Amino acid sequence: MTIVDTPERRQLRELTRAFVTREVLPHLDGWERAGEVPRELHATAAKLGLLGIGFPESVGGSGGDLLDSILVTEEIIRSGGSSGLVAALFTHGIALPHMVATAGGRTGRALGSPLGGSQSPGHDDLVDRYVRPTLAGTMIGALAITEPDGGSDVAAIRTTARRDGDHYVVNGSKTYITSGFRADFVTTAVCTDFPGSGELSLLVIDKGTPGFTVGRRLEKLGWHCSDTAELSFVDVRVPVANRIGQENTGFLAIMQNFAAERLSLATQAYATAQRCVELTTRWCRDRSTFGRPLASRQLIRHRLAEMHTRAEAARAYVHQVATRVAAGEPVVTEVAMAKNVAVAACDHVVDQALQLHGGFGYLRDAEVERHYRDARILGIGGGTTEIMNEIIAKGMGL
Ligand SMILES: Cc1cc2nc3c(=O)[nH]c(=O)nc-3n(C[C@H](O)[C@H](O)[C@H](O)COP(=O)(O)OP(=O)(O)OC[C@H]3O[C@@H](n4cnc5c(N)ncnc54)[C@H](O)[C@@H]3O)c2cc1C
Repeated sequence: MTIVDTPERRQLRELTRAFVTREVLPHLDGWERAGEVPRELHATAAKLGLLGIGFPESVGGSGGDLLDSILVTEEIIRSGGSSGLVAALFTHGIALPHMVATAGGRTGRALGSPLGGSQSPGHDDLVDRYVRPTLAGTMIGALAITEPDGGSDVAAIRTTARRDGDHYVVNGSKTYITSGFRADFVTTAVCTDFPGSGELSLLVIDKGTPGFTVGRRLEKLGWHCSDTAELSFVDVRVPVANRIGQENTGFLAIMQNFAAERLSLATQAYATAQRCVELTTRWCRDRSTFGRPLASRQLIRHRLAEMHTRAEAARAYVHQVATRVAAGEPVVTEVAMAKNVAVAACDHVVDQALQLHGGFGYLRDAEVERHYRDARILGIGGGTTEIMNEIIAKGMGL
């Protein structure tokens, strides 16, 4: 079972490739050095319909499903983009889905939602205020779950939101937040009971709200074009109307959206591996040592064969699991396995790719150098490899 390549999907791939060639490749190195991608890139991607892929047209999206989003991610990286670029440009993929899932009426997605969408007032309002402008490329959103005290244990969140009339008063801090520096709003996980109780809610907090400060831009090993920030909340008054779904349904909402986030990271991993196989194969054909091309040596050919095999196997498995998720199957364990399989394939391939490029592989000028650095986060973000193993062990009944 793999993602069926329909004529529409082939068109989507071509559109994505043209976007990367025209709008990304000439500038990516500059964005890497600047530490962020420009806002105009969001507007351009939105105009082409790429930003809205996977979101229904009723909320301002372009339609399509999880599988279409996966193909766009894959194509961006295979065309010479990067996982850092995907993180920066598609942060809304983690910042918006909770709002869409709980929106009543017009979106038609909230019916029977355990998050209590259609019963809560104001959710279409969130779609109008945040989802539509973000998918139109005029706003940038972020998702803030992780705190300085820890990220793996989501239930232990300590940022609190105390109800005071029509507002919540939020206190706490978040860290490692992707696009947090540029974001106009942050979908923020808060504890609506005592700290560490696991009773979580999601609040949309606007940049500029008194008491909400964005700290320094964090410097990282990779994902240089993706800005990452620390956020602080001191007595921040957030209207109750900015709560997503019912109170204390945040944990469930976060867990439900982890599947798409993890599959996106898995896609970034196998696509990075595929790209590195292509780059390295080309390099090994062109580069001669001791009088003949590297690719003429059996040792090198076998290494490339193994890299290719791992990348293709990871892709096939991620596609298979994604297809099951899109069909509504509860495959939490398989999603965790898909992420770990793809990350392991990627780790192996980027390491070998850099090695086979020799000294050039260690230079900023080499594309494989960027992938080598970028890849390291894929086994950490969206749930670490160890946390995935915990999920898999649970699925095994251990
Ligand atoms: C570049 C970047 C972008 C990010 N973007 C976002 C974002 O947009 N929003 C957001 O909310 N977060 C974001 N994160 C945070 C990321 O999700 C967390 O770093 C990740 O979940 C791990 O949490 P932690 O760093 O607190 O590690 P910890 O939870 O402190 O874990 C430390 C180590 O211990 C291991 N470990 C923890 N518990 C166990 C256990 N029970 N058994 C075995 N091993 C265990 C972990 O696997 C890890 O290796 C980002 C991080 C980075 C670096």
